[in-house]
Amino acid sequence: MKQLKTRILSDGVAVGTEAVKVDSFLNHQIDVAFMNEIGAELRRRFADIPRDGIDKILTIEASGISMACATATAFDAQNPPPVVFAKKGLPRTMTDEVWFTEIMSFTKMKMTAVRIAKKFLQPGDRVLIIDDFLAHGQAAAGLVNLVEQAGAELLGVGIVIEKAFQQGGTLLRSQSIRVESLAVIDTIKDGTITFQ
Ligand code: 5GP
Repeated sequence: MKQLKTRILSDGVAVGTEAVKVDSFLNHQIDVAFMNEIGAELRRRFADIPRDGIDKILTIEASGISMACATATAFDAQNPPPVVFAKKGLPRTMTDEVWFTEIMSFTKMKMTAVRIAKKFLQPGDRVLIIDDFLAHGQAAAGLVNLVEQAGAELLGVGIVIEKAFQQGGTLLRSQSIRVESLAVIDTIKDGTITFQ
């Protein structure tokens, strides 16, 4: 997505050689109009899935929620598929039965427990996963694991920014999972970001 690459170059900040900060428009302050364009593009990438061919959009809190909602709206603004997000930690209000897994975060260097109430992810649900970044693939793999536990059907994984020099894309695609990424970063070097 050309506008996304332009925006990453103008407003993104390279952090060392591994990470890029996009907090001015994507995952801290949100440019809502631009987020809607991202949602529209993610929907275009899965244009072969009709509205009645998808039951849920699945993501993980907090950064994935805005783009998951924008994508859901792009499927059908009047009747969007519900967005379900995996919760980190165990809120005291979460008394339901849950699907549970653990995800390793390389950005935070720790394991995080995530949960989805079983009533929101059910056998047979046709699910599209959406997230902001694909790095080592741990977050996406954790979400895929929850889909499998639930006996739901995975339609694919839509990513806003994939970093090709980390292994997440290979990990998912080697399991024949369809992955669509709007911008694929090749390298981050000396403060310069290059795309595939
Ligand atoms: P993974 O599980 O694929 O290693 O990492 C995915 C998660 O880590 C994303 O949901 C995102 O929140 C975070 N993440 C990974 N790489 C980056 C990065 O370069 N910049 C930012 N802002 N977040 C990242």
